[in-house]
Amino acid sequence: MIVPFVSFRVMEKEIDSELRSAFERVYERSWYIRGIEGGNFERSFAKFCNVKFCVGVGSGLDALMLSLKALGIGYGDEVLVPSNTFIATALAVTYTGAVPVFVEPDIRTYNIDPDRIEKKITDKTRAIMPVHLYGQPCDMDRILEIAEKHNLYVVEDCAQAHGALYRGRVVGSFGNVAGFSFYPGKNLGALGDAGAVVTNDKKLADKIRALGNYGSNYKYRHIYKGNNSRLDEIQAAFLSTKLPHLKRMNKERQKIACRYLKEIRNREIILPYVMDNVTPVWHIFSVRTRNVKCLSKYMKENGISTSRHYPIAIHQQECYKDLLISTGSLPIAEEISATQLSLPMYYGMTENQIDFVISTLNKFKE
Ligand SMILES: *Cc1c(COP(=O)(O)O)cnc(C)c1O
Repeated sequence: MIVPFVSFRVMEKEIDSELRSAFERVYERSWYIRGIEGGNFERSFAKFCNVKFCVGVGSGLDALMLSLKALGIGYGDEVLVPSNTFIATALAVTYTGAVPVFVEPDIRTYNIDPDRIEKKITDKTRAIMPVHLYGQPCDMDRILEIAEKHNLYVVEDCAQAHGALYRGRVVGSFGNVAGFSFYPGKNLGALGDAGAVVTNDKKLADKIRALGNYGSNYKYRHIYKGNNSRLDEIQAAFLSTKLPHLKRMNKERQKIACRYLKEIRNREIILPYVMDNVTPVWHIFSVRTRNVKCLSKYMKENGISTSRHYPIAIHQQECYKDLLISTGSLPIAEEISATQLSLPMYYGMTENQIDFVISTLNKFKE
């Protein structure tokens, strides 16, 4: 049996005619940037996130970078980010001119460890960026408490967590502002690059909208030296088509995760720990094992594709050599990158495929 790591086939088949008519609707109008579709999607996504404002942008990276810029963060500032995340979280900080400062995660949940945040706060710290990694919400009560105590902004990176719940409330509404990615592989994906910012702060939303539109909210009047980062009409129409299906599709991921958590039983494999006050949306199902190369090879030989998130920690990446963080100084991130493997997880996985992943893993011997 072949089990791909991810597949859009079943999902796209189910909504094929809806996607095609979304395209036609936009094409008929011949209006491609900043129009009806963008506004409609922003309103429905704000509602989905239980916040007042949503601003569509060009990518998840831009959503985070523009959020930080709009908060006035830049040269001379520091922003706390988890040491185990996709590189975009750190790059968003770097692009503002500020410095990303890494906080180690809790190795059980893979998320930023609140107990380690305060040690990294200095006079220069302006914000904390919790990343709801792999779709599991961070410990937001603790993070918000620390942020309030030290007068820091909270910018949530929700790129992997569309619809995930913390104490019954959807992520993206806890911090001052939150960034989402609609990269095709994300739980809510466009058919290309796209992203959005959500917030309850109108001034911030207006500023972010201007920053993504050459620093202008009135034609040819430029208040800021902005970027070009806008959600285009075609992608907005596709996203509006897919949003109503998101809850159902997340539920299916939750069912798969539930089976993995219950039925994978192998002493060589460490399963992710789920906090009891959260409902993850399982963008990625991440396990750990001593010999990750051996396990991924074994899975491949059995027809099952896996992936790594992420094989090299950010502080060990070539592009971040300038931070001068030596190997060994962020041991938890290094341990995760050395031992982590992601299992197949996508809408449309069949029961047979799930059975097969589980039984294959249970037979694994190093
Ligand atoms: C995907 C992702 C991003 C960046 O999103 P893009 O749309 O690819 O720019 C940022 N943070 C995390 C955690 C991500 O997974």
